[in-house]
Amino acid sequence: MNKHQHISQEQKKHSLISHISQKALRFTTAFCAAAMLACGVAYAAAPAASEAALPADAAGSTFTNVVVTAYDKNGFHSDDLIRIDALVHKTDISFAVISNKINAALEKQNHIPGGWPVESRIVSTEFNPTADPCISDGRKHYGMDISTKSQIIPIYATASGTVTTATFHPEFGYYVVIDHENGFTTLYAHCNELTVNAGDTIEKGDIIATTGSTGWSTGIHCHYEIQLNGVYQNPRDYLG
Ligand SMILES: [Zn+2]
Repeated sequence: MNKHQHISQEQKKHSLISHISQKALRFTTAFCAAAMLACGVAYAAAPAASEAALPADAAGSTFTNVVVTAYDKNGFHSDDLIRIDALVHKTDISFAVISNKINAALEKQNHIPGGWPVESRIVSTEFNPTADPCISDGRKHYGMDISTKSQIIPIYATASGTVTTATFHPEFGYYVVIDHENGFTTLYAHCNELTVNAGDTIEKGDIIATTGSTGWSTGIHCHYEIQLNGVYQNPRDYLG
């Protein structure tokens, strides 16, 4: 094999890996990312880097077998998986390489704010950065207030990251800021109690505080803000 062929083969391999990973990721995201992550030792061991690091049974597993066993018991999505598997078998791309790619992509996705920070869907004040008189009470508001009907309930991190602030502020009351290490930050204010400290590394879905009415607040709610590269975002666009 000459050099030219070698490079083109590598490029082909690279583009195939990316194709399979994207396809697998779409599949995973659409149906059950959590199940994918929980599908056993094989998958959990994959990020350890090389195939050699996988347990013997995992190294022998096909992508289809591992995934199907986890969450496709009824065979609804087997066709997709079998197609992915066929592509894998056409090349010398290893299961570990693809697993690593998918894990990396899922991890990246977990750092993007998504979902509601509390188990309540009562929005008492909408995002209104321009003080539009037609929105909520017409006052400038850089976040979204989610009322919890006077109940003190958990507040969850909407994405993974590092806590940069967990303290008291006269306006925000007890509040938490999380840096998601990709330009996104989220803020959760008027808390009753904080359960994290600055410097803590947290995963999406971790409890970071409980709802309260501390600071400038007239009722128990979570004031939730999202910024991207320092620009306030409408949390409505990230609720999933
Ligand atoms: Zn607010």
